[in-house]
Amino acid sequence: MGLLSNSNPLPSKPSEFELPENITRLKNALRACTLCPRNCRVDRTIGQRGACGIAAEARVASTMPHFGEESVLVGRGGSGTIFFAGCNLHCAFCQNYDISQTDSGRPCSPRQIAELALSLAQDGCENINFVTPTHVAHAVAEAIVLARHLGLTLPTVYNCGGYESLDTLRSLEGLIDIYMPDFKYAADASGRTYSEVDDYPTVAAAALAEMFRQTGPLQIDQNGLARRGLLVRHLVLPHNLADSQKVIDLIAQHAPGCTVNIMAQYRPAFRAHEFPGLLEYPSRRDIQDLRQYADTLNLVVL
Ligand code: SF4
Repeated sequence: MGLLSNSNPLPSKPSEFELPENITRLKNALRACTLCPRNCRVDRTIGQRGACGIAAEARVASTMPHFGEESVLVGRGGSGTIFFAGCNLHCAFCQNYDISQTDSGRPCSPRQIAELALSLAQDGCENINFVTPTHVAHAVAEAIVLARHLGLTLPTVYNCGGYESLDTLRSLEGLIDIYMPDFKYAADASGRTYSEVDDYPTVAAAALAEMFRQTGPLQIDQNGLARRGLLVRHLVLPHNLADSQKVIDLIAQHAPGCTVNIMAQYRPAFRAHEFPGLLEYPSRRDIQDLRQYADTLNLVVL
């Protein structure tokens, strides 16, 4: 846990540290931004902002050892979460909207993010959990390279909304140990209505397959902690608004045998009041049935 060695100090000037080519690719994508499938094509390097609302520099809203994540991430020391402000999705029911739908927090360079990761490791966290990283994948990737250079050995977690670019994911290969995407909806119409993107299921399914290709099934160590692999989250919405059974079908099709967390903690939040169906809660029965269904498809249900 939190193993650090101080034998590799960072050079004082970033130019002395040669970044791998994949990081350069991610940074170049910011000039006409294609970092995520929205392809806004704004120049974030000169301060322009696209749908995610964040320019080139990442903003960190909070960091902490988090004990409310899945038990395979929490262990004794908690999951070392780094929450980024902004998001490439605008989910009407976002449970985290005060961070994801704002540019709150403070600007942080990759070096500062690396230092935050190292500090969480020193505090005894079990992994470094980047929350809502998609629109700042360039900064996350560079921070991981820097932190590892300084001796970080904890697994890295990419805790995202599932609406990911394949090019960006390919550039992250080798840097992310655990992918933890949401899979939110099975129908385009739901993605359009509730998250303001036209093609959520198709994009999320392709992203899932790529994440699974990179890391494979979730691997749990002798202490019950995840070390590597794919863990998919699905938040059950009231009135089956997410078309949940079809979501499970898509997950089983694109990442057979993977681990899923079928989440029951939906509560009306943010702009849920604009959609009458979102003002209620999913039934316990629906959630139990869905878990059983996922089991019949040989998914590992947390
Ligand atoms: S990362 Fe932001 S600016 Fe870039 S394409 Fe996605 S939403 Fe647009």
